[in-house]
Amino acid sequence: MNVFGSSGTRGVANEELTPEFVLRIAKSVGTAWRAERVAIARDTRRTGRMLADAAASGLASVGVDVERLGVLPTPGAQFYAEREGVGVMVITASHNPPQYNGVKLVGDDGVELTVADLREIESTLLAEAFDTAPWHATGRVREIEGVRETYVDELLSSVDRETIAEGGLTVALDPGHGAGSLTSPAFLRELGCRVVTVNGQPDGHFPGRDPEPIPENLEDLGRLVRASGADVGIAHDGDADRAIFFDETGTYLEGDATFAALAAAELEAGDTTVSAVNVSQRLVDVATDVGANLELTPIGSTNIITRIEELEANGRRVPIAGEGNGGIFFPGYRLARDGAYTAARFLELVAERRASEIVAPFDGYANVRRNIHYESTAERDAMLDAAANQAQAADAELNTRDGYRLDYGDAWVLARPSGTEPLVRIYAEAREETRAETLAADMHAALADAKAAA
Ligand code: MG
Repeated sequence: MNVFGSSGTRGVANEELTPEFVLRIAKSVGTAWRAERVAIARDTRRTGRMLADAAASGLASVGVDVERLGVLPTPGAQFYAEREGVGVMVITASHNPPQYNGVKLVGDDGVELTVADLREIESTLLAEAFDTAPWHATGRVREIEGVRETYVDELLSSVDRETIAEGGLTVALDPGHGAGSLTSPAFLRELGCRVVTVNGQPDGHFPGRDPEPIPENLEDLGRLVRASGADVGIAHDGDADRAIFFDETGTYLEGDATFAALAAAELEAGDTTVSAVNVSQRLVDVATDVGANLELTPIGSTNIITRIEELEANGRRVPIAGEGNGGIFFPGYRLARDGAYTAARFLELVAERRASEIVAPFDGYANVRRNIHYESTAERDAMLDAAANQAQAADAELNTRDGYRLDYGDAWVLARPSGTEPLVRIYAEAREETRAETLAADMHAALADAKAAA
């Protein structure tokens, strides 16, 4: 049984993610970390306080002092962890719908736990090997005030305030009723922007939109950009570690395009950037143009974190990394995805040029996605063998870190089994729609033939 996926554990609150389960996770965390104190933060979800209370009880019962940070973006919890040298349990389901909740674990260095670290906690949990404390040694619980304010101060001291202020920008912000509702408006105003918001009040029912910052959830933000004459629109997910942007015409900007634009501004020759095997051709093109190395990991942000740490340990400079879903790392700031920081870095660019101009070079790529269902592991294995054969036969560079990715220089195709559903996903991308369609269709045909023969 895997309690933790690549980004902690998540489920429908009070069904899969019960207070009893969170209490056991907290006892495991307290036991495995052997720490004197552990902090707890949460996003705005309806069930957040209930689950944070369970976490506090669990930690105290194994003798750990508890620091309650209240509602805080995950990157704010990471800031606190690093500053105080204390691990944090973050009660959040990130971008998942309102009925979900979850637990993310942040180490005392401010970095999300790696899969290996999570396994240790998991084995403590499964063995129920808890260090239960005698009554007089149980942990104390105290509230910590003002963490949101110090987090905003830290953000302000980490970005180019002067450039942003000189831009005289109007920013339309949609924090989606999440944890960023309590920090990003103040941060952006302190940067000298005029800020207008939609879905700006913290509300665990998420009445205005679901927490995931995808185009169908962000139509109000597009309208707000147009109505207010804003220079840019910014949306967060529920725990504000991601930022998605709209340009000055109220048009949604692909996360891949803004990531590429930020990377183009950040990377220098000889640098390394890290993304996952479904990385966009846009980032491939930026890295090639600049003369930077691009390293691909299996999908999942903890894999990217692990690779950045390895590269930096080997003396490589990794100024930017991440994925096209708005989750971007600037390791020079902190090895954390931070939606507010990412927003400010984009504002540094918008202060000089229109948002539409910034992303124009990275716009207009064609992405094609196909899925093939399978009924049996025999069908699945036959399809993956076919993908391998297709890869061997193609005049392309093969990457097998997570599925089969074929890089053709100007385009790519990836065949990868889904982690959660009985299907193989095919992704293709090129500048020309026909090229992407052809690559996806060829892969699809090869897999379909193999499935029929299985
Ligand atoms: Mg998130």
